[in-house]
Amino acid sequence: MIQRLFRLAHKKSPWILTYNAGGCNGCDIELLGLFNPRYDIERFGILQQASPRHADILICTGPVTIKTRPYLERIYEQIPSPKHVLVVGSCGCTGGIFKNAYNVLGGIDQVIPVDLYLPGCPCRPEAIFNAVQTLIDRL
Ligand code: SF4
Repeated sequence: MIQRLFRLAHKKSPWILTYNAGGCNGCDIELLGLFNPRYDIERFGILQQASPRHADILICTGPVTIKTRPYLERIYEQIPSPKHVLVVGSCGCTGGIFKNAYNVLGGIDQVIPVDLYLPGCPCRPEAIFNAVQTLIDRL
Protein backbone atom coordinates (compact mmCIF):
# COMPACT_ATOMS: atom_id res chain seq x y z
CA MET A 1 0.00 0.00 0.00
CA ILE A 2 2.77 2.42 1.01
CA GLN A 3 4.72 1.46 -2.12
CA ARG A 4 1.69 2.25 -4.30
CA LEU A 5 1.32 5.59 -2.55
CA PHE A 6 4.98 6.41 -3.19
CA ARG A 7 4.65 5.40 -6.85
CA LEU A 8 1.56 7.56 -7.26
CA ALA A 9 3.25 10.57 -5.66
CA HIS A 10 6.31 9.96 -7.82
CA LYS A 11 4.19 9.99 -10.96
CA LYS A 12 1.93 12.89 -9.99
CA SER A 13 4.66 15.25 -8.83
CA PRO A 14 8.04 14.46 -10.36
CA TRP A 15 10.85 16.87 -9.56
CA ILE A 16 13.30 17.80 -12.26
CA LEU A 17 16.98 18.61 -12.13
CA THR A 18 18.66 20.05 -15.22
CA TYR A 19 22.33 19.79 -16.10
CA ASN A 20 24.28 21.25 -19.00
CA ALA A 21 27.17 18.90 -19.65
CA GLY A 22 28.90 21.19 -22.13
CA GLY A 23 26.45 22.57 -24.71
CA CYS A 24 26.05 26.07 -26.12
CA ASN A 25 23.14 26.98 -23.75
CA GLY A 26 20.60 27.10 -26.59
CA CYS A 27 18.80 24.00 -25.31
CA ASP A 28 18.92 25.33 -21.75
CA ILE A 29 17.19 28.55 -22.73
CA GLU A 30 14.41 26.53 -24.38
CA LEU A 31 14.30 24.27 -21.32
CA LEU A 32 13.83 27.22 -18.99
CA GLY A 33 10.87 28.23 -21.14
CA LEU A 34 8.97 25.29 -19.60
CA PHE A 35 8.97 27.02 -16.24
CA ASN A 36 7.85 30.46 -17.45
CA PRO A 37 4.20 31.58 -17.34
CA ARG A 38 3.62 30.69 -21.00
CA TYR A 39 4.24 26.95 -20.67
CA ASP A 40 3.98 26.79 -16.87
CA ILE A 41 4.87 23.13 -16.42
CA GLU A 42 4.41 23.55 -12.65
CA ARG A 43 0.64 23.40 -13.10
CA PHE A 44 1.12 19.65 -13.66
CA GLY A 45 2.94 19.25 -10.36
CA ILE A 46 6.37 19.18 -12.02
CA LEU A 47 8.91 21.21 -10.07
CA GLN A 48 12.45 22.25 -10.79
CA GLN A 49 14.92 21.21 -8.13
CA ALA A 50 18.44 22.42 -7.41
CA SER A 51 19.55 19.33 -5.47
CA PRO A 52 20.01 15.89 -7.04
CA ARG A 53 18.98 14.32 -3.74
CA HIS A 54 15.44 15.64 -4.25
CA ALA A 55 15.13 14.96 -7.98
CA ASP A 56 13.29 12.19 -9.85
CA ILE A 57 14.16 13.16 -13.41
CA LEU A 58 17.50 14.40 -14.69
CA ILE A 59 17.32 16.43 -17.89
CA CYS A 60 20.70 16.76 -19.57
CA THR A 61 21.74 19.02 -22.40
CA GLY A 62 24.97 19.28 -24.34
CA PRO A 63 27.72 16.75 -24.99
CA VAL A 64 29.81 15.37 -22.17
CA THR A 65 33.23 16.92 -21.93
CA ILE A 66 36.27 15.63 -20.09
CA LYS A 67 35.76 18.30 -17.43
CA THR A 68 32.02 17.75 -16.87
CA ARG A 69 32.13 13.94 -16.81
CA PRO A 70 32.90 13.56 -13.05
CA TYR A 71 30.16 16.03 -12.12
CA LEU A 72 27.61 14.23 -14.30
CA GLU A 73 28.54 10.90 -12.71
CA ARG A 74 28.30 12.35 -9.21
CA ILE A 75 24.94 14.02 -9.87
CA TYR A 76 23.54 10.76 -11.27
CA GLU A 77 24.77 8.79 -8.26
CA GLN A 78 23.17 11.27 -5.84
CA ILE A 79 19.69 11.02 -7.37
CA PRO A 80 17.65 8.46 -5.41
CA SER A 81 16.17 5.50 -7.29
CA PRO A 82 13.95 5.17 -9.21
CA LYS A 83 15.55 7.83 -11.40
CA HIS A 84 15.10 8.71 -15.04
CA VAL A 85 17.24 10.56 -17.53
CA LEU A 86 16.00 12.62 -20.45
CA VAL A 87 18.49 13.98 -22.96
CA VAL A 88 17.47 17.18 -24.72
CA GLY A 89 19.21 18.27 -27.90
CA SER A 90 21.31 16.64 -30.58
CA CYS A 91 24.53 17.36 -28.69
CA GLY A 92 23.37 15.35 -25.70
CA CYS A 93 22.15 12.52 -27.95
CA THR A 94 25.31 12.04 -30.00
CA GLY A 95 27.77 14.86 -29.39
CA GLY A 96 26.17 16.89 -32.18
CA ILE A 97 28.24 19.68 -33.64
CA PHE A 98 30.83 19.20 -30.89
CA LYS A 99 31.47 15.59 -31.82
CA ASN A 100 35.16 14.77 -32.35
CA ALA A 101 36.28 17.94 -30.55
CA TYR A 102 39.45 17.33 -28.53
CA ASN A 103 37.69 17.63 -25.15
CA VAL A 104 34.33 16.01 -25.98
CA LEU A 105 33.56 12.42 -25.04
CA GLY A 106 30.24 12.24 -26.94
CA GLY A 107 26.59 11.94 -25.93
CA ILE A 108 25.30 11.68 -22.38
CA ASP A 109 24.91 7.90 -22.71
CA GLN A 110 28.68 7.58 -22.84
CA VAL A 111 28.63 8.24 -19.10
CA ILE A 112 25.19 7.48 -17.61
CA PRO A 113 22.16 5.41 -18.75
CA VAL A 114 19.58 7.40 -20.72
CA ASP A 115 15.84 6.63 -20.77
CA LEU A 116 14.69 9.00 -23.50
CA TYR A 117 16.40 11.01 -26.25
CA LEU A 118 14.99 14.19 -27.74
CA PRO A 119 17.03 15.34 -30.75
CA GLY A 120 16.85 18.90 -32.05
CA CYS A 121 19.00 21.99 -32.20
CA PRO A 122 17.61 23.44 -30.08
CA CYS A 123 14.47 21.56 -29.02
CA ARG A 124 11.32 23.64 -28.72
CA PRO A 125 9.69 23.84 -25.26
CA GLU A 126 6.60 22.05 -26.64
CA ALA A 127 8.78 19.09 -27.70
CA ILE A 128 10.54 19.04 -24.31
CA PHE A 129 7.17 19.14 -22.59
CA ASN A 130 5.97 16.14 -24.64
CA ALA A 131 9.17 14.25 -23.83
CA VAL A 132 8.73 14.91 -20.10
CA GLN A 133 5.12 13.67 -20.33
CA THR A 134 6.28 10.52 -22.15
CA LEU A 135 8.83 9.88 -19.43
CA ILE A 136 6.24 10.40 -16.69
CA ASP A 137 3.88 7.96 -18.42
CA ARG A 138 6.64 5.36 -18.12
CA LEU A 139 7.06 5.92 -14.36
S1 SF4 B 1 21.73 20.84 -29.63
FE1 SF4 B 1 22.11 22.85 -30.58
S2 SF4 B 1 21.18 24.34 -29.17
FE2 SF4 B 1 21.41 22.40 -28.03
S3 SF4 B 1 23.38 22.57 -26.97
FE3 SF4 B 1 23.76 21.55 -28.95
S4 SF4 B 1 24.32 23.22 -30.38
FE4 SF4 B 1 23.35 24.16 -28.58
